[in-house]
Amino acid sequence: KRLTIAIDGPAGAGKSTVARRVAEEMGLLYVDTGAMYRAITWKALQSGIDLSDEQGVAGIARETEIELNPPEVRVDGIRVTEAIRSPEVTQHVSKVAKMAEVRRVLVEKQRRLARDGGVVMDGRDIGTHVLPDADVKVFLTASLEERVRRRHLEMIRRGFSSDPDRLYQEIKQRDEMDENRSHSPLRPAADAVIMDTTGRSIDEVVSMILDLCRT
Ligand code: C5P
Repeated sequence: KRLTIAIDGPAGAGKSTVARRVAEEMGLLYVDTGAMYRAITWKALQSGIDLSDEQGVAGIARETEIELNPPEVRVDGIRVTEAIRSPEVTQHVSKVAKMAEVRRVLVEKQRRLARDGGVVMDGRDIGTHVLPDADVKVFLTASLEERVRRRHLEMIRRGFSSDPDRLYQEIKQRDEMDENRSHSPLRPAADAVIMDTTGRSIDEVVSMILDLCRT
């Protein structure tokens, strides 16, 4: 059987790094759903539309073509791999991700990608809502301080300037919005394995997940 693996958790918990590695090890497709919400946010910002115009943003979500070819991301054929990680997109993405119609459109795409199994999908609502029948569900967490430190190093590596105090506020605020929205809020599925990755290496976390997949 081709496995379906759901990895959820708050910002900076290491989901994408770990999910990509698990997919590689298992020969599965990796789907980064955060990149999809970022892609719509990027396009909405580019188009100059008012982000409180929910109908307008929903229209963008419906008409936009998103291509995920890890690690490359394209929006209507334009390469946005780095652009969707910018502080500006990050600052606005949770506002876009709250919108019911945006979620409906993206969840439909996500389910289509996972239709035949053989995927590792990461996000906030994969185990609870997008793929409730996933074979393996993991909820990755880490202390806020550790997540800030990881995100800071990642931003520097990506060539953005980064201020840990601002990141702390940004991550805290984004988690609060993701946890408290009315549609598919961030939370572990009842049958998810919760892994606190604070102080654990990527290798350790990857091998814990691979163990779960083999049992
Ligand atoms: O994973 P990443 O930090 O790139 O996700 C960016 C944002 O996209 C999250 O803060 C959240 O608002 C939204 N998101 C979501 N549901 C998902 C994945 C991401 O709402 N499945």
